[in-house]
Amino acid sequence: MSESALFGNYARSNLTFDHGEGVWLVTSDGRRFLDCGSGIAVNSLGHSHPHLVQALQDQAAKLWHVSNLHQTPEGERLAQRLCAETFADKVLFVNSGAEAMEAAIKCARRYHYDNGQPDRFHIVTFEGAFHGRTLGTIAAGGQAKYLEGFGPKAPGFDQVPVGDLEALKAVIGPQTAAIAIEPIQGESGIREIQTDFLRALRRICDENGILLIFDEIQTGVGRTGRLFAHQWTGVEPDLMAVAKGIGGGFPMGACLATAETAGALVPGTHGTTFGGNPLAMAVGNAVLDVVLGDGFLEEVRRKGLSFKQKLAGLVDGHPKVLDEVRGNGLMLGLKCAVPAGDYVAAARQAGLLAVPAGDNVVRIMPPLTMSEEEIALAVERLDMAACAIEAKLVEGAAE
Ligand SMILES: *Cc1c(COP(=O)(O)O)cnc(C)c1O
Repeated sequence: MSESALFGNYARSNLTFDHGEGVWLVTSDGRRFLDCGSGIAVNSLGHSHPHLVQALQDQAAKLWHVSNLHQTPEGERLAQRLCAETFADKVLFVNSGAEAMEAAIKCARRYHYDNGQPDRFHIVTFEGAFHGRTLGTIAAGGQAKYLEGFGPKAPGFDQVPVGDLEALKAVIGPQTAAIAIEPIQGESGIREIQTDFLRALRRICDENGILLIFDEIQTGVGRTGRLFAHQWTGVEPDLMAVAKGIGGGFPMGACLATAETAGALVPGTHGTTFGGNPLAMAVGNAVLDVVLGDGFLEEVRRKGLSFKQKLAGLVDGHPKVLDEVRGNGLMLGLKCAVPAGDYVAAARQAGLLAVPAGDNVVRIMPPLTMSEEEIALAVERLDMAACAIEAKLVEGAAE
């Protein structure tokens, strides 16, 4: 093949997929892979889900884009439905996760500005966080490897370790506008945040007039068996960023907020050309039709438990390869005893796709529609992958 004309910023596999069917991805030469990565927690309903295909085709034949200069009834409907299911009163639609987080950050800052506190613009975030790749969200995430070489880090982000209330109290001051956290840290290795800690954050925010932002870009839209992961905890935010699974593969995101908080973004303060366009809204509504359907989330919870139990058995059977299983619902992680990248490669050899994360973890995040039989098959393939690595370890020891 000739030299790629694409930027070299991604380390891509050599697989080329031609089409998808449910939890399966099929290459152009007919090889079938069990998709336990869902394009990084995006294909929440798998590939070519008939209800989503129909919604997109119907909308495509009618109207694609009108901009936010005009009404979008499908967007109004999707916003109403999201509000009915959550803490939120208002929704802003955007095109990606990073944009959803940017909107939440801007809204929080503007809220305090409107209250006569223009210097109150600091956002507290947590070690291991990932909030996106824009200049603002790499500053929020605070990871050196994503900040390096891109000029001065945007000011106004303070980072503390997860669970460390003393460190948190030490950075909070009259400059603090908001605290932002993922209920389960995804990119850094499926690290669940304790409910007690989230409760403490809510209390600290309430006591100090600080806004609480949840980044549910990866955890949301049924991934953990609730529509949003924080709904397991009873702790509610003032602002929430959503993306990935909400579009089922169609690029879209959303910032949800209480009425009081959202009120800060009056006409002219913020916007996006594509955000909430009719195609995205049609698909978003179709995703909710399924995820909010009778018994769907209950099934995700049941299948998540079953998958996690089977993975725990796998860990027990392969102590030289796997250390532990973590996560909730169908947002699972296998902490590896060998390099996580090696296990992802071995799984791919066995016909299963998974996604590496930080902390030497392999993420298992299949479509929420995965059946019990497909879970059993996934565990079989993950077992084959572990056996293949063990065989190599034995070979290596013999040499
Ligand atoms: C993926 C992700 C983002 C960034 O979303 P993009 O759509 O890639 O901009 C932000 N936060 C979390 C928790 C994510 O998982």
